[in-house]
Amino acid sequence: MDKLRYQMVLHQLSERGIKDKKILEVMEHVPRHLFVDKEFHSSAYEDGPLPIGYNQTISQPYIVGYMTEQLHVLPHHTVLEIGTGCGYQTAILSQLAKKVFSLERIPELAESAQNRLQELGYTNVDVINANGWNGYKKEAPYDRIIVTAGAKKIPEPLIDQLTNGGIMVIPVGKLLFSQTLRIISKDSDGNVIKKTSLPVRFVRLVNK
Ligand code: SAH
Repeated sequence: MDKLRYQMVLHQLSERGIKDKKILEVMEHVPRHLFVDKEFHSSAYEDGPLPIGYNQTISQPYIVGYMTEQLHVLPHHTVLEIGTGCGYQTAILSQLAKKVFSLERIPELAESAQNRLQELGYTNVDVINANGWNGYKKEAPYDRIIVTAGAKKIPEPLIDQLTNGGIMVIPVGKLLFSQTLRIISKDSDGNVIKKTSLPVRFVRLVNK
């Protein structure tokens, strides 16, 4: 598996333009196969998404790397993630940030992700079983916010819960499995800047 993971990082991430050394190093270590069912272990390092049950998917490694790079996470940051799924993206964030709060609306996925992350030693993570459309006010504001499901529009509460100087990455689009990655940042005065990035395919971010 170590060799497959090394090749994933080399061919799918590095050679396609992911440059951040720390992200490449973290993705070379996080055991992606342990985040999917046994039947998918042998395909865990292939170039695509995989099913994780409940009609949800773990994202393609490149998209995980790309979104993480766009977030520019620093070691003192608190990160909010919406859409824990299996917890793979959460594990990567936990190695870059001080603390990660991750919201997942499906109770079974939230519970298994939290257990898996604990067992694998990713302890600076809290998985919360809740709908994340309104963010998570209790621990706000956040230095970084990442949404790993496709929203019809950008949820305003998420922008409110971003610190000045903060960055949010979120797939936005009206169609199922067809969105555009948006990169939202707040400058030091709180002005919001919205940029458009790659076309992506995510499951739906369920509205409240
Ligand atoms: N990053 C995840 C991707 C999982 S797919 C991974 O690597 O596995 C997206 C996840 O978002 C699904 O598990 C889905 O249940 C969850 N989700 C969708 N809408 C949500 C919402 N409004 N609040 C919280 N979680 C949501």
